[in-house]
Amino acid sequence: MGRLVMKFGGTSVANIERIRNVARHVKREVDAGHEVAVVVSAMSGKTNELVEWCREASPLHDAREYDAVVASGEQVTSGLLAIALQSLGIPARSWQGWQIPILTSDAHASARIVGIDGGEIIKRFAEHKEVAVIAGFQGIHAPTGRITTLGRGGSDTSAVAIAAAIHADRCDIYTDVDGVYTTDPRVVPKARRLNRIAFEEMLELASQGAKVLQVRSVELGMVHNMPVFVRSSFDKPEDIDPFGTPPGTLICSEEEVMENHVVTGIAFSKDEAQISVRRIEDKPGVAASIFGPLAEANINVDMIVQNVSEDGKTTDLTFTVPASDFARAKATITGAQDKIGYARFDSETDVAKVSVIGSGMRSHAGVAAQAFAALAARNINIRAITTSEIKFSVLIDAAYTELAVRTLHTLYGLDQV
Ligand code: ADP
Ligand code: ASP
Ligand code: MG
Repeated sequence: MGRLVMKFGGTSVANIERIRNVARHVKREVDAGHEVAVVVSAMSGKTNELVEWCREASPLHDAREYDAVVASGEQVTSGLLAIALQSLGIPARSWQGWQIPILTSDAHASARIVGIDGGEIIKRFAEHKEVAVIAGFQGIHAPTGRITTLGRGGSDTSAVAIAAAIHADRCDIYTDVDGVYTTDPRVVPKARRLNRIAFEEMLELASQGAKVLQVRSVELGMVHNMPVFVRSSFDKPEDIDPFGTPPGTLICSEEEVMENHVVTGIAFSKDEAQISVRRIEDKPGVAASIFGPLAEANINVDMIVQNVSEDGKTTDLTFTVPASDFARAKATITGAQDKIGYARFDSETDVAKVSVIGSGMRSHAGVAAQAFAALAARNINIRAITTSEIKFSVLIDAAYTELAVRTLHTLYGLDQV
C-alpha cells in the first residue's frame, strides 16, 4: 500500500463529466489499496474570469479581496469532486486551504506556503479510509486570518507541499498533456516526451516559461526529494494498470536520470519587456541607482547588459522586466531621471525570451555558439544574451518566437523521429 497525492488541473475538471472521470481515476488508486489526497484546480477559464471581474470592479484593487474572490474557483471543484467520489461509494470530503490549514505568508496573490499540518488527513486515512479532496491554489495567513492564493498555476505547488506534509510516496500531476516535453508540444508538434528530467533542469524550464509546472512546485519537490510524476488525465481510468508504468515524465534527482543529452529542453516566454537607459554616467553607483528603486518597487529584473563605455564618460544599460511590470518600471525609471542622470529612455515590449536548458552544458563548450549561428542563418536578430551553468537565453523580436524555438529544437537533435 502506498500514499499518493493526485493533482488535477483546470482542463481536467472543466465540467461535471470530466470531474466524474477524475473520480474514476481516484477510485482506481483507492481500489488498488492506496491512501489518496487529491488536489484540484478551478474549472478551466474560471480563474481568468474571476481575475477579470476584480479588474472590472476596480483596476487598482485590494489584493486581499482579490484573493477572496479568486480562491473561490477551487472551492467549487473540491466540493464537486467530493460529491462525485461519494456517488461512487468512496468516502471523501473537501478541504479548503484554511481548514487544513495551509499556512502561508501574507504576500497576497503570490503567497508562499510556510507550513501544513497533515495530521488530520493522515488520521482520517487510517480511521475512515477517507479521500481528502483539497482546494489547490489557496491558503491562509494565520496572523490576519485572511485567505491567500499562491500565484497563477499555484495548485501544482499546493500538491507538492501536501505530498511532503503527509509523507506521500509520490505526487502525480494530471494535466492535459501526457508529460513534460522537450518544448511546448502545442507549439512544436515534433517535441518529444521526456521519460525523466532532473529537478534542476525542470526548475529552469519552468522558470523560463514552460507553464506545465509552477516553478515553486519544482523547488519544493527538490527540497523534499519528492518524486513528481506528470501524466495525462485524459487516458481512460479503467485502461490504466495502477501497478504498471503509465506514460508520463518523472521529475527526480539528477542521478536517477538515465538519458544524457547536452540539451534537454527549450522554453520561451513572451511576457518580457526590454528597457534601455541611454547615456548614463559611467561611474560607481549608477547601476544601484537604477536597480535599487526597481527592487524597492518589487519589480524583478532579468537580463542585464551594460556596454563598456567608449569615451570613458557615458554608457548604455539594457535590461528586461516582466511585461506586466513594464508600466511601473517605466514610471520608476523616468521618475528618477534626475537622480540617475541619463539622456534617453528606450523600450520595446514586443520581445520574447527563448531559453535552452541542459545540464550537459556544464561539461560541453560551444553549445550557445551553435545557436547564435543557427538563428543568424534564419535572420533572427539577438537583442540580448544571458548564460548560466545549465542554460542560456536570447532575447528576440516576439514575431520570431516559434521559428526560433523550432530552429533550436532541430539544431540540438530534440525532434521526434
Ligand atoms: P493544468 O491546467 O493542468 O495545470 P497547464 O495549462 O497549467 O495545465 O499546463 C499544461 C500546459 O503546459 C500544456 O497544455 C502545454 O501547452 C504547456 N507546456 C509548456 N511547455 C511544456 C513542456 N515543455 N511540456 C509539456 N507541456 C508544456
Ligand atoms: N486556478 C489557478 C490558476 O488558474 C491555479 C491553478 O490552476 O494551478 O492559476
Ligand atoms: Mg497549471
